[in-house]
Amino acid sequence: MPTGSRLLFSCAVEALMLPYRPMLEELYQEIILDHYRRPRNRGTTVPADITAKETNPLCGDEISVTAKLVDGKITEVKFDGHGCSISLASASIMTGRLVGKTLPEARNYIENFQKMMRGDVPYGGKELGDLKALEGVLKFPVRVKCATLAWHTAHRGITAKLGDQPV
Ligand code: ZN
Repeated sequence: MPTGSRLLFSCAVEALMLPYRPMLEELYQEIILDHYRRPRNRGTTVPADITAKETNPLCGDEISVTAKLVDGKITEVKFDGHGCSISLASASIMTGRLVGKTLPEARNYIENFQKMMRGDVPYGGKELGDLKALEGVLKFPVRVKCATLAWHTAHRGITAKLGDQPV
């Protein structure tokens, strides 16, 4: 394995790799870099009807997700925390994807994304867009945890919220 590829398996040296753009092209597609540089929806929603926090010890990523609900629908999602570019970009992308959905719809959407990131099924939804960029991370198995961290966090928060609502 060439040295460059081996480096991609570690988050810690990621910053050192940034000048070597050609090597990172597949992993850090333009959309990921854009979300990393200009994260959307960073902070905490008011009120925080849904709240959850998760860490990825493999990489030191730490993400919290909050969401605001109006009439059973998610009207705002925000994330905060710190981590590698993949974890933060993925969180930023996710915040825009869950708005307008009911909690079961959002959870289903997250589960489809998680299936794609496990390589179980190619994500065939018409809303692919930004998520397709994250599918490129599948080539770097250690980084999948980074890409799914925010989604896993939101899933846990939604599940906890659904649990305390009457069915
Ligand atoms: Zn990471």
